[in-house]
Amino acid sequence: MTNVQHVYDDGLCMQCGTCQGICPTGSVALTWDLRVGYRLSVEEKTCTDCGRCHDACPGPGLDFSASAWWRERNEGAPFEDFLGPWRRLCFGWASDPEVRHTGASGGVATALMQSALETGLVDAVVAVRMSPTNPMEAEAAICRSAADVAACRGSKYNVVAINRVLRRILDEPGRYALVGLPCHIQGLRLAQRRSRRLRERVTLAIGIFCGLTNEPRATAVLARQAGLDLAHVREVSYRGPGWPGGVRFVSAPGLTRRRDYPDYVDRRFMALTPPRCRVCPDALAELADVSVGDAWLDRFEGSDGVSDIVVRTPAGERLLDQAATSLVLQAASPAEIVASQADTYDVKRGACRGRLWLRSLARRPLPEYPGLALSASAADRARSAAGAAQERLFRFLVDRRYPDRRGSSGA
Ligand SMILES: Cc1cc2nc3c(=O)[nH]c(=O)nc-3n(C[C@H](O)[C@H](O)[C@H](O)COP(=O)(O)OP(=O)(O)OC[C@H]3O[C@@H](n4cnc5c(N)ncnc54)[C@H](O)[C@@H]3O)c2cc1C
Repeated sequence: MTNVQHVYDDGLCMQCGTCQGICPTGSVALTWDLRVGYRLSVEEKTCTDCGRCHDACPGPGLDFSASAWWRERNEGAPFEDFLGPWRRLCFGWASDPEVRHTGASGGVATALMQSALETGLVDAVVAVRMSPTNPMEAEAAICRSAADVAACRGSKYNVVAINRVLRRILDEPGRYALVGLPCHIQGLRLAQRRSRRLRERVTLAIGIFCGLTNEPRATAVLARQAGLDLAHVREVSYRGPGWPGGVRFVSAPGLTRRRDYPDYVDRRFMALTPPRCRVCPDALAELADVSVGDAWLDRFEGSDGVSDIVVRTPAGERLLDQAATSLVLQAASPAEIVASQADTYDVKRGACRGRLWLRSLARRPLPEYPGLALSASAADRARSAAGAAQERLFRFLVDRRYPDRRGSSGA
């Protein structure tokens, strides 16, 4: 079988949506589910076994070695484990105080996308918003104006199969920028490898740093903890205003509940993470043109938000140059960027190695990442075994305390 059904059945699906986006016969269905995110099924009757979905799937792993095919884009650029390839490193924020204040960190992703549209680098931007019909579900949006982009600002700690949108991009001519987590950018690049049309149309990829994301029910649990009935929740946002901001629910009839960012990202919330995310080592979206994250450094504490910026390719450099008046930039060193990601480094190296080891013990199929040193030390193993046990306990407690009352939707 050359389709992605076995990737899903093996527990390796990253829920990026690439397979559905590029399937020429519409044979891949993704059904959204409050509990896990997207359930995948391939319609065997219409699938022609062309293998495109399989070739573009990042689930089985990716080559991170120095000779990897995707490193061509970064020719001549310095490279470091975890940081990936870079041409320029900065801290920065949007020069428009409103964009900065309402962004997740410095509003840099929004400012870059708005500038790409305004300077004509692209005709449209693919970003992420919460679904207007289901406030627990995040979805991709095609933005054609600065206002559309602004409506997508802020991080959504929720799975989103952004790359389903590749279907529309293949059908609707134009030049696009796509913003996504490392898994989305990996899926995009794999799809572009086989599709000239996608290479010509998606001319910019803006990567968002990612430690881990969450199953949709993590958001539902937060709403219930805030005393809200899910059926009455109308709006959800996870970050801002200000840095680092907080989660905010608006519920009928006009109730608002808010909790600060570090407080709600607790062990119970983080237990509700798709298991595949725990064995993904790409934190900083190494295949993007530009990657952005939070500059978690003491020296920026109390500011209105600062983003890490890693420019990786000539296309990324052009984007940053074009956006010069929309951003305030300070040069950063590789050590400073890595230091700003101390917690994420732990998740994507020590904890990831330990989780890979646990999966191998359970004889579950493993993703492969040539070029990365991912064999677990005794300390990684001990910590991950304890972490996994605690996660199972939290999942059990959440199931008991908050049984699901909403089912599936979408296709
Ligand atoms: C699940 C998740 C995990 C993260 N983990 C880390 C981390 O470990 N360390 C770190 O420094 N930063 C992490 N970030 C990134 C951080 O929260 C900010 O998004 C980043 O600093 C950019 O901020 P900004 O103000 O420049 O972006 P904004 O101007 O606020 O724009 C953010 C953009 O991100 C896009 N976006 C939001 N949610 C998602 C999503 N779920 N999938 C794809 N795209 C999305 C939106 O389309 C929006 O355009 C994470 C973000 C997410 C969504």
